[in-house]
Amino acid sequence: LSSKLQEAFKKLKGKGKLTEKDVKDAMREVKLALLEADVNYKVVKDFINTVSERSVGQEVMESLTPAQHVIKIVNEELVTLMGKTESKLNVSSMPPTIIMFVGLQGAGKTTMTGKLALYLKKHNKKPLLVAADVYRPAAIKQLQVLGNQIDVPVFSLGDKVSPVDIAKAGVENAKKIGADYVIIDTAGRLHIDEQLMDELKNIKEAINPNDIMLVVDAMTGQDAVNVAEQFNASLDITGVILTKLDGDTRGGAALSIRAVTGKPIKFAGVGEKLSDLEVFHPDRMASRILGMGDILSLIEKAQESIDEKQALEMQKKLMTQQFTLDDFLSQMQQMKKMGPLKDILKMVPGLDSAKLGDLEVDEREIARTEQ
Ligand code: GDP
Ligand code: MG
Repeated sequence: LSSKLQEAFKKLKGKGKLTEKDVKDAMREVKLALLEADVNYKVVKDFINTVSERSVGQEVMESLTPAQHVIKIVNEELVTLMGKTESKLNVSSMPPTIIMFVGLQGAGKTTMTGKLALYLKKHNKKPLLVAADVYRPAAIKQLQVLGNQIDVPVFSLGDKVSPVDIAKAGVENAKKIGADYVIIDTAGRLHIDEQLMDELKNIKEAINPNDIMLVVDAMTGQDAVNVAEQFNASLDITGVILTKLDGDTRGGAALSIRAVTGKPIKFAGVGEKLSDLEVFHPDRMASRILGMGDILSLIEKAQESIDEKQALEMQKKLMTQQFTLDDFLSQMQQMKKMGPLKDILKMVPGLDSAKLGDLEVDEREIARTEQ
C-alpha cells in the first residue's frame, strides 16, 4: 500500500499550485491503492470524499508545498479513520478487571492472552489466565505452558466442565488469590456459527466482562473486517486486537475495522514471541501505511524550531552577501534545536535505520565549527 500511495503523491510534487484536476487524479490513485490493500469499499469512498473536500479550495499553509499539504490531509484522515488516539483497557473500579477474549480459531487468541498477561505484569499488575477453551485438544496445556513462561497463574477445571462455569469459577479464583486482572481464553471455530455465539453470549452474561476483546488476524484483510462486524453484532464487543501485523503488508484490516464496527483497535500482535505486543497507535499506523518514515513529524519539527522571521532575515543577508560568521553560528544553533542529526536523518523517507546503521554523525563536528 505504501509504495502505491507514494506513487500517487509523487505526481503532485513539483506542482506550484494544485488544481481541482490534480487533486482528483491523485485521489483516483489513492482510491485504487486503498482498494487493492483490501480496505472496505464504503470506507474508501467516504475517505476519498473527505480528503478531496479538504484538499480542494482550501488555503494551502504557507510553510508546506501543495503536495505536502495533501499528504498531511491524507495522513490526518487515516489517523481519524483508525480512531485518532490510542484506546486503553476498560478498568473496573472494583477489581478484578475482567477481560474476555473471543475470535475465530487460529486468530491468535491464546497467544495474545499470554502477551497481554506479560504486558500487565510489566505494569506491576497481577493477572490470572483462565482456560475456557474445552474443545481444542491441548488448548488448556498451551495456556499452561504460556503461563509458566511468564510466571502468571493459570486457572483450569479441565475439559469436562462447561466454559460458562469455568469462567465464573475463574473470576472467583481471581478474587481469592488477589489477582487484579482476569483474562479468559475462549474457544474459536473455523467459521462463525450460532452455537459458538450462543456459548460466548452465555459466558458474557455470567461474568459481565469489562472488555470483550475480539482477536482477528490482520493478514486476512477484508475477512477480518467481516468477522469483526458479525462478532460485534452478536456480542457488542468493546475492542479489537489485530494479530500478525508483522505479516500484514497491506493494512486493509487495520484501516477498515474501526470505521465498520465503531470499536477501537486496542492492541496489535507483531510476532510469535510473548513480548511481541504493541499498544495500537493510530498515528504510527498511519505513517507506517504512508510509508514515509516520520515525514510529518519532520515537517512539524522544522516548523517549531526554526524561527521563521530569523530565517527570512538570514535569507536576505545571504542574497545581499552580508552573511557574517555570527549569522552562521546562529544558523547552526537553529539546526541543533531540532535534535541530534542522527534522529533527524532517521525521519527522512527512504533513509531507514538499517541504512543508517553504521553512519555515525559526529555532533562534535558541529560544536567544533561553532568555536
Ligand atoms: P487461537 O486459536 O486463536 O488461540 O490462536 P493461537 O494463539 O493458538 O495462535 C495461532 C498461531 O498464530 C500460532 O502459531 C501463533 O504462534 C501464531 N501467532 C499468534 N499471534 C501472532 C503474531 O502476532 N504474529 C505471528 N507472526 N504469528 C502469531
Ligand atoms: Mg486458542
